[in-house]
Formats: sequence, structure tokens, C-alpha cells
Amino acid sequence: MPTSLGKLRRHPRVTTQADLPKSTASDEIAALRGELLAWFRRGARRLPWRETRDPYAIWVSEVMLQQTQIATVIPYYHRFLQAFPTIAALAGAPLERVLTVWSGMGYYRRARNLHLAAQALVRDFDGRIPRDYQRVRSLPGVGDYTARALLSIAYNLPLAVLDGNVARVVARLKAWKGNVHQPQFRTDVQMELERMLSRRQPGTFNQAMMELGQTVCLPRSPRCPACPARKWCQGLRMGRAEAYPLPRPRRGAEVHPLAAAVIRRGSKVAMVRGLEEGLLNDLWNFPAAFGSSHAQALRRLREKLGALFSGPVSLGQAVAELKHGITYRSIRVRVFSAHVSGKADRNSMRWVPLDRLADLAVSELARKIASKVQGAEL
Ligand code: SF4
Repeated sequence: MPTSLGKLRRHPRVTTQADLPKSTASDEIAALRGELLAWFRRGARRLPWRETRDPYAIWVSEVMLQQTQIATVIPYYHRFLQAFPTIAALAGAPLERVLTVWSGMGYYRRARNLHLAAQALVRDFDGRIPRDYQRVRSLPGVGDYTARALLSIAYNLPLAVLDGNVARVVARLKAWKGNVHQPQFRTDVQMELERMLSRRQPGTFNQAMMELGQTVCLPRSPRCPACPARKWCQGLRMGRAEAYPLPRPRRGAEVHPLAAAVIRRGSKVAMVRGLEEGLLNDLWNFPAAFGSSHAQALRRLREKLGALFSGPVSLGQAVAELKHGITYRSIRVRVFSAHVSGKADRNSMRWVPLDRLADLAVSELARKIASKVQGAEL
């Protein structure tokens, strides 16, 4: 009966894990694992943190890579390790220095937590990273992902790492809908990863999965012909690999008006610690205030400057406008020139040469404002 056979060939049935006899399923997983590891060994990108066995350096790289692209991280990674070559050196450095070295990479909470964690390691663990998941998790800023990545790569502990790239690869291999922000989907993917994980080379396996997601199984256009897992990929078999996983529903960005003041005294400008509402607390910023409208932000800025300086304050016209994002906040900034007289509280304000801001732990927003007003007549 050629008709039914032809139908079967054109629409091959997708075999699920549950359909396979147990031994066959584990053989398939072992074969996939083997291909993946061989592919990684053959062609993995040479990255500085892959050339070291130092757990501290691996930890620093993992923290930096959390919210920053690889190409951006590389020079910062070298700079940071040059400034703080050991856990003890990092622990003993003033926070201001740590933030200055980190300055430009954003998400400063990571640097603050690295610093706190280094101090905890010196205090409680003899300056070494313990080989224990719970202990590593107890360190400031170390979540499940970082602990798993660090312990598997540095100490070869059998812990599978799940990030957005890895979740995408697994979702496609299994043709699973859902997205990485759904708890059940994460649980399913994590369980599948535990089955796939190489017990002998967990660190290499985790890096191979991440590499696959970053370089081959790309979000919009997966490069399936170059993929070591294509033989086992059900998404590919169904002809719609890029349909998995489902995209995350978008959260609308909140828009926040902010008024900022550039106050000059000769070649110097006034900088204050923190922005507002607990944001950027350890970083230097131009004095600024949020409002529900631009007019309200300006009123609040005037009040703030009035409280900061003992003499009168006069605010001029807006000299620049820009947009800036901090986590989910979309900030619309209006920059005003301001003139003040009288003294300011020296603990909360500093006069800094405009062209020397880079020597200070300044926020990314302050850098943007500085580049907008540099050379302008204020
Ligand atoms: Fe991703 Fe394609 Fe590889 Fe499947 S075959 S894992 S979709 S790159």
C-alpha cells in the first residue's frame, strides 16, 4: 500500500523520549552528549576565562557575563584581574576603587556583591571558594546560575547550568513550547539537562551548551546545518526550529522623567552620590530628581539643590535631552545648567573636573550627560 507508506515518509512521526525504550533513550542521550563535547573541543572560541583553572578568575568572568556581552567583558576582565589579582586583593580594596575599575560596564550591584563576597570568603573560607553548592550560594550575589557555572567549570562538580541560551537549545531539541520565565518550563528543561549532563566533564558540557546557544542555535536564525545536535533535534525535524521556545511576553517599560543639573565652577562640575530612590547609591552622579512629569522633576530638582547648597540656586534652560535605561526603567532626562552660591555639604558633594570623571566611580548616566555637555557654553 504505497499511499500510507508515502504519507508516513512525508510526515515522519516525532518520537518522544517517553516512546523510546529506556536503554535506547539513554544511548541517544549519550551519543548527543558525545557529539556536543567533541564539537566544543574542536572549535570552541578562545576566551581568556577558558584558559585558566583559577576559580576566582572564572567567578569574576561569570559575574561579568551575566548582563554584558562577551566582547565588552574581555577588556574589563583583564583590567579587573590586573587591579585585583586575588580574592584577598579584592577583599582588601576600598569599594570606591572596585567601582571605579568596574566603571563603564553598568549593573554596579554585581561589583558591590563581588566585593562583599570576597570579604566573606576571606573571613569565613580562608580566602578560597568552597567546593560546596550551599556555601557558594550563601555568598552575596551568587545565585543558582552562578553557583552551578562556577562549581562545574572550576571544580568539575556535576551541576547542570540553565540560562536563556541553554533553555532555547533544549526547547528546540525537544520541540517544547513555553518560555524560560515560566517555572514549569524551567523545571522541565532543568530535568532534561540533568539527564544530558556529562558526569565526567560537567564544566565542559555546560560551556558547550552555552556555546551552542550563543553561536549556532541563534534566537532568530538557528544555523542547523552546522549544529552537532541536529540528528537529535525534534524542532528541526518538524521544520520549525525557530518557533521554539515561545517568546517572553513583553513588559512595557516604565517611563520616568528626570531633571539633572550641571553646575560648573571653572572647569569643575558638582557631583553627588547616588541618583534617587535608592538607585546608583555608590556612584557619583550629576544632581538630579525624578518627577511624574518634566515640570515636577524640575521643581524637585530645584528643592534638592536648595537643600544641598547654603546660598541661592538659579536654574537655566534645558541644555540637553537624552534617554537612559536602568533595569526596566526608561528614563527621559532633561539636563539644565545651574548656578549656585554658598557652600555645599562636603560629605555628599564633590567638585570634579569634567574631563576627569573617568577617574571616579561615576554612573553610566553621568557619563552620557558629560559627553552631551562637554564643550557646551553653560
Ligand atoms: Fe538548534 Fe538547529 Fe541545532 Fe536544533 S538543529 S539545536 S534548532 S541549531
